[in-house]
Amino acid sequence: MAYDDQNIFAKILRGEIPCQEVYQDDHVLAFNDIAPQAPVHILVIPKGAYISIDDFGVNATPEELKAFYSAIDKIVSDKGLKEAGFRCIANTGENGGQEVPHFHMHILGGKKIGPMVSS
Ligand code: 5GP
Repeated sequence: MAYDDQNIFAKILRGEIPCQEVYQDDHVLAFNDIAPQAPVHILVIPKGAYISIDDFGVNATPEELKAFYSAIDKIVSDKGLKEAGFRCIANTGENGGQEVPHFHMHILGGKKIGPMVSS
């Protein structure tokens, strides 16, 4: 499957659609989810054109991988989520419920997030 550069996160990266930015560096952008499912609901995305977590994991450079997970660490620290905990979710493909085909990690926190999967 080829990367679709018309997806909504590609448009956010190009500045065509606004976002509430939380963090940015050379390789990573993080912003608040438009429809938050928890008091803290942040999306962390690589700036590179990766479709999914498996695409990112295999094809990203060591610098991109380090930047991505370092950004998550910085965000959860800055938001005070480390002590109480948080959940990271990477919905992938149709069965995973992925709506936007640009790899993104959801960070959810600020309350108990509940069951891992819906029944
Ligand atoms: P997925 O289901 O692909 O894992 O999650 C996509 C997420 O992107 C959803 O939680 C949805 O609320 C969020 N989202 C969709 N469009 C926009 C947008 O234009 N701006 C922001 N900030 N979030 C969006």
